[in-house]
Amino acid sequence: MRTSKFLLSTLKETPAEASIASHQLMLRAGLIRQLASGLYIWLPTGQRVLQKVQNIIREEMDKSGALEINMPVVQPAELWQESGRWEHYGPELCRFNDRKDNNFVLGPTHEEVVTWLSRYEIKSYKQLPINMYQIQTKFRDEVRPRFGVMRGREFVMKDSYSFHLNKESLRETYELMYDTYCRIFDRLGLTYRPVEADTGSIGGSHSHEFQVLADAGEDIIAFSTESDYAANIEMAEAVAPAESRKAPSKALEKISTPNAKTIEEVAKFLNVSEKELCKSLVVHGFNQETGEKELVLLVLRGDHELNEVKAEKVPGIAKPLTMASDEEIKNAFGAAPGSLGPVGFKGRIIVDRTANVCSDFYCGANEDGFHLGGVNWDRDVQNYEVQDLRCVVEGDPSPDGKGTLILKHGIEVGQVFELGTKYSQAMNCTVLNEAGQNIPMEMGCYGIGVTRVIAAAIEQNHDDKGIVWPASMAPFQIAIIPINYNKSEVVRKEADRLYQELTAKGYEVILDDRGERPGVMFADMKLIGVPHSIILGEKSLADGMAEYESRTSDEKVKLPLAEIVANIE
Ligand code: ATP
Ligand code: MG
Ligand code: MG
Ligand code: MG
Repeated sequence: MRTSKFLLSTLKETPAEASIASHQLMLRAGLIRQLASGLYIWLPTGQRVLQKVQNIIREEMDKSGALEINMPVVQPAELWQESGRWEHYGPELCRFNDRKDNNFVLGPTHEEVVTWLSRYEIKSYKQLPINMYQIQTKFRDEVRPRFGVMRGREFVMKDSYSFHLNKESLRETYELMYDTYCRIFDRLGLTYRPVEADTGSIGGSHSHEFQVLADAGEDIIAFSTESDYAANIEMAEAVAPAESRKAPSKALEKISTPNAKTIEEVAKFLNVSEKELCKSLVVHGFNQETGEKELVLLVLRGDHELNEVKAEKVPGIAKPLTMASDEEIKNAFGAAPGSLGPVGFKGRIIVDRTANVCSDFYCGANEDGFHLGGVNWDRDVQNYEVQDLRCVVEGDPSPDGKGTLILKHGIEVGQVFELGTKYSQAMNCTVLNEAGQNIPMEMGCYGIGVTRVIAAAIEQNHDDKGIVWPASMAPFQIAIIPINYNKSEVVRKEADRLYQELTAKGYEVILDDRGERPGVMFADMKLIGVPHSIILGEKSLADGMAEYESRTSDEKVKLPLAEIVANIE
């Protein structure tokens, strides 16, 4: 590729709308442009990277024996009604009507469609197990799309779905997919951890998330200093002993008023970290009556005990509360709109089971947990017992009795689930077993956030000059940087010749033929993260020499050109 014929689209300034490194660099390096909230255009450089990631995923999925298919983005609502998720999925599911007034959804995931497919295509156990995958666009109307393609509304996912006669076969494929994911993320050069995960709105029984370790990650994962134990924070909390309750030592009510208090002020007063405070406010719990997982909000009481206050909502888990407006969130917390992260809800706190309403509250969430504010604390929270409070902070003993827990931020780049018969039963997807009986198929599903992987890789691999791609993702392997391309015939001829030679050898080469100043060319090639640069100048070429610079070394070495070419892997 020649830069003169390419849309390099690099930016010198860091765009103000981007707060984390990967988002800033994806914009600056000309990988993406935002069309609207959560919707991105992939520019030529970005598209090349996306293609590489997809190819690696495709190769490994094919190797595992999975079969590539392609399902429509648009899905009939009937399927979602059959599975029950029409009711339960919540506002992330984008619903619309066609001209005949039929209901449709934009697929946020494809369990329903693939179950429908298998219901018709698979008749006998002899066709099982089967694993089908696609690499395809998904749409989720995320409450707060942010961080660029890390949390977009439209994004590319590799999703696969396996079907089985029995649980043993499902476990086998689950493990095969787990290993396949490890191979994919290894090849992508990511530092990641598989962690035990809950199954969320997808449902099912057994699950792991693949978490890329990065401070910008929205998730928190807990792992042991001494064993292989690793889980996401929700799972770690679920198995933590009940005595793991940690309460800040002072009463919240002393400073609480019906007026807003910021989390910062509260934390400072209590002399605890904001993170600790948030943990004390919010815990995932179980509804005693239904046995369903739901969010339980906890607030401090005068006697330094924690109280449970029931919030009748959790996105995707229970009935949604009303969304609070940015203005309300701002008034409740004194926080800037958006700064409390992806959720902002208002509701009423119920202080006891006879449903005495205490007051209005607002809550918002960011990566450290939920924040609660704007509550009328004067009407005290009384007579309420904590049923089951579990929370985890760094340094807690771990659940398997070995070592202590370390908490780190992670970016969820993939998740594997054993779904069991949740969908096959609801949608009557059955198969004839050896005894000739019709039984619901066992299912597994396995997702990778293809576009998110790229942002995650950049979070882990960048410096102050730009992106430092893992070799397998780089949009180009070699940059040819000719000094005075437009002025020196010697340089131009050699640059063109070298470009031909390297391209013919199968390298992906970008030749900077814009005739720009050297500093501009160096900066651009570093920004987009080309691993190898060959710098051609008239003087050195006279002796058959050129300069080589690796993206990771920051040092130009003068060597015979032939030697440089021979040594590039
Ligand atoms: P998250 O917890 O981040 O919202 P999820 O658990 O809802 O993700 P899954 O349903 O497990 O996502 O989907 C599989 C993969 O798709 C995720 O592991 C993630 O990498 C990716 N993904 C999910 N939502 C988004 C999004 N809004 N933008 C980009 N990638 C996403
Ligand atoms: Mg999600
Ligand atoms: Mg998740
Ligand atoms: Mg997930």
